[in-house]
Amino acid sequence: MTLAARTAVPPSLSYELYPPANAQAEAAVLRAIEELGGTHPDYVSVTYSGTPERRRASIQLIEHLVGATRLRPLAHLTCVGETRDSLELLVCQFVGLGVRGVLAMRGDLPADAQACRGDLPFARYLVELIRRVEGRHSATLAGGRMAIGVAAYPNRHPESPSFEHDIEVLVSKERSGADFAISQVYFDPAHYVRLVAAARAAGVTIPIIPGVIPMSSVRRLERLAVMTGVRPDPALLHRLETASSDAERRRIGVAAAAELARAALDAGAPGLHLYTFNDARASVEVVEALDLPSTRTLSASVSA
Ligand code: FAD
Repeated sequence: MTLAARTAVPPSLSYELYPPANAQAEAAVLRAIEELGGTHPDYVSVTYSGTPERRRASIQLIEHLVGATRLRPLAHLTCVGETRDSLELLVCQFVGLGVRGVLAMRGDLPADAQACRGDLPFARYLVELIRRVEGRHSATLAGGRMAIGVAAYPNRHPESPSFEHDIEVLVSKERSGADFAISQVYFDPAHYVRLVAAARAAGVTIPIIPGVIPMSSVRRLERLAVMTGVRPDPALLHRLETASSDAERRRIGVAAAAELARAALDAGAPGLHLYTFNDARASVEVVEALDLPSTRTLSASVSA
């Protein structure tokens, strides 16, 4: 392959969906899948939570993606509160369903300090478990590997003593067998650049894909801050608070996300991951605003 051909590879494109909790939400996610499919994403990630109902809903959504669409699922998996055995069973189930990519995370700790934290204290051990389990499925995988992604943090993880510690954790995830990382949300383009620079300086070589969120709701932005510990951009918050209509808030959210994504891509990001909150329209508008290279369509269909 010539250098020219290699550098022509377009950035990857992916979306995060969460499993629906009721029939109305299910209809919405099916519509979202159809709309997102039109942009030829490289994969669609499906969030995970350990409660039995949410887990079932995640698996059903994955089954739908594999069985009824041409979209490839990236199954999120968290190890908090889980035994080694239950995780191994789940990974086997994923392989059997046709899943070839897992986003391996620890998950948020339960608020109840007495609650069971599970057999694996950190995400890197889940990465190692998936690598071990895939060895048992080498016939199904034709000797190939699962693609394993991990979480990376442009801003300090709430439990971490420092940003530098987070970078060491990312190094350990790569050494455990991770193939790529997706970033937590962030609102300042410099934070993604800082994450990548620090990771590279520490020896991380895997792609680090920026995670961007089209944010058009003040309430959701505040909830996100509580969930992730990432402070919302005060200027964006102000613009959303003073917007005169939902339509204007939506325009503001899409424009801010497109700006953040453009800055990351201009800085050399290998792809873009959009947190959709199952609102496909806003994410598709971000992609349209970016006018990603037209070779994407070809690359997505070839790799599918
Ligand atoms: P880890 O890498 O295990 O890190 C957790 C904490 O432990 C960090 O503070 C880290 O600094 C510290 N740590 C790690 N290793 C060590 C060590 N050896 N010694 C000391 N300290 C250590 N959550 C869900 O529940 N479901 C989802 O579907 C989901 N999807 C996500 C998708 C993305 C792209 C991202 C970025 C996050 C997602 N999360 C999800 C949230 C994630 O589970 C939380 O951020 C969680 O708190 C940490 O997960 P982790 O995999 O980064 O954990």
